[in-house]
Amino acid sequence: MMWERLAVLTADNGECVYCPFASETMDHVVPFALGGEDELVNLVPACNSCNLLKADSSPPEFFVRDRMKTCFKTEDGLIGTALPLDEMGERFESASLEVHNLLNHLQRVRAEINAPGRLAWFRHRFEGHGRAAADAALRMREQVWPEVARAKGWRYPTPTVERMRATAEAERMARCDAHRDPSR
Ligand SMILES: [Zn+2]
Repeated sequence: MMWERLAVLTADNGECVYCPFASETMDHVVPFALGGEDELVNLVPACNSCNLLKADSSPPEFFVRDRMKTCFKTEDGLIGTALPLDEMGERFESASLEVHNLLNHLQRVRAEINAPGRLAWFRHRFEGHGRAAADAALRMREQVWPEVARAKGWRYPTPTVERMRATAEAERMARCDAHRDPSR
């Protein structure tokens, strides 16, 4: 559904969980191939490139394979090992900590996405938009970003609180206009 897609794409400040680029897709943290489900608790925002590269891997597999690459391509198109064994050891010394940090980050983003108040806000605001293609969700994300950021600052108010705030704001604007009205 569109509201679920927007709830995922706007999480983690709209960035890919695996790299600093903007999110474009929903990544299944545990891929289907490893028994992951098509549920919100298994979805995080990712860029196209990370999502494609991760494919059927778990996050630690993807991280070690892609982010800690020690292989390179030669001009002949051959794959060579760029690092000697001792340097490879140094490179991987920090691997468990980096994977640990990634998994913690994924847990935090998952908690953000699945916070009941936040989900309720997205459902209330965007449920009417039904199903939509991924690129439509991206366009819509750009349009509604300021509104989502405001709601985040207000800790995703319930519809009633949101209406009260909107009414108060409208009244305040009306008072300002009244002050500016030269006929008064
Ligand atoms: Zn990425």
